[in-house]
Amino acid sequence: MSIDTPGITPHGGVLVDRVMRGTVRDAVRERAAHMPRVVLGPMAVSDLELLAVGAFSPLTGFMTRADYERVVREMRLSNGLPWTVPVTLPISREVAETVHEGQEVALVEGDRVLAIMQVTEVYPYDKQLEAREVYRTTEEAHPGVARLYRQGDLLLGGEVWLVDWPAKQEFPEFRHTPAQTRRMFARRGWRRIVGFQTRNPIHRAHEYIQKTALEIVDGLFLHPLVGETKADDIPADVRMASYQELLRDYYPADRVILGVFPAAMRYAGPREAVFHALCRKNYGCTHFIVGRDHAGVGKYYGTYDAHTIFENFKPEELGITPLFFDHTFYCRKCGGIVSSKTCPHDPSDHVVLSGTQVRQMLERGEPLPPEFTRPEVSRVLIEGLQAKRANQDEEE
Ligand SMILES: [Zn+2]
Repeated sequence: MSIDTPGITPHGGVLVDRVMRGTVRDAVRERAAHMPRVVLGPMAVSDLELLAVGAFSPLTGFMTRADYERVVREMRLSNGLPWTVPVTLPISREVAETVHEGQEVALVEGDRVLAIMQVTEVYPYDKQLEAREVYRTTEEAHPGVARLYRQGDLLLGGEVWLVDWPAKQEFPEFRHTPAQTRRMFARRGWRRIVGFQTRNPIHRAHEYIQKTALEIVDGLFLHPLVGETKADDIPADVRMASYQELLRDYYPADRVILGVFPAAMRYAGPREAVFHALCRKNYGCTHFIVGRDHAGVGKYYGTYDAHTIFENFKPEELGITPLFFDHTFYCRKCGGIVSSKTCPHDPSDHVVLSGTQVRQMLERGEPLPPEFTRPEVSRVLIEGLQAKRANQDEEE
């Protein structure tokens, strides 16, 4: 099933819709109660939701072997369409004994049935190869690789139908589906929309990048990722509060839409940059901002790898225009936010803080320099992190 939708053509041609509704849904849900059950982990739960709403169009389910293997080796689906990260359903050998190909299974979160899956294939896969190709490292210190090594040894491939939404539907007022964002963009008369992915607070350098992009398009779709991230990333609810504060005071309300992207972080760096762009194309964006070290972690990826990876694809194959940005920062001599492309001055004139420094200052309750972060954002981040800490202390 697919949705007729305004705006840019979805990846693969049609916006996938795997959400069951009405009496059909009720009947399937009843039937699902008697099917073998496969328990989903947090990442599979978020992947399932994104599959169902069409954010992963043209995928209609968890990858079968032909798609998986070509994605790992060549960054393409079996039909040749660009796709850079595996979307798989790992299961243990014990669970694999309870399911067989051709059968319908219920995909469950805890004891709730979320979806049914038509099992096309149960297949083994090479974790080392996936680590090396997708994450560019086999080191377990990499959070994406660690998750890969922990997960089940077999993959379950096949189409899915959603019968119930995952339990955790955070930020419901911002949880727009691709069909919804496309209608929102069309209603505003936007034809050129730039998507911005983030899992971090928005500091002035990001604001500069977004506004620079906004100069050449009609609207900005601020689309922070709110699925599973590393424990030391700033929690999503604190970030969301800071985004709203920033938008209220510093952005024209009729040029920005805030939505949440309920995906888990894979930390696959360059490959995830392309994946993030393709997902935003499905949400209706025509342009996508790719910063330095997009979706990177540690020192696993080169500074510009997330830019150069796009050269593997023809522009028309991707169908969304990446906008590449360099490292940006405040320069005291220039008196504004600049980048290494635009500022001739010495690094000692630049206000640059590492992610760790930012985190430490916020945890100590110190506002970040106003050249680095808007004071309103500093305040929300400090208050948010202190409230989290107070809660944790109470629980201990
Ligand atoms: Zn300068």
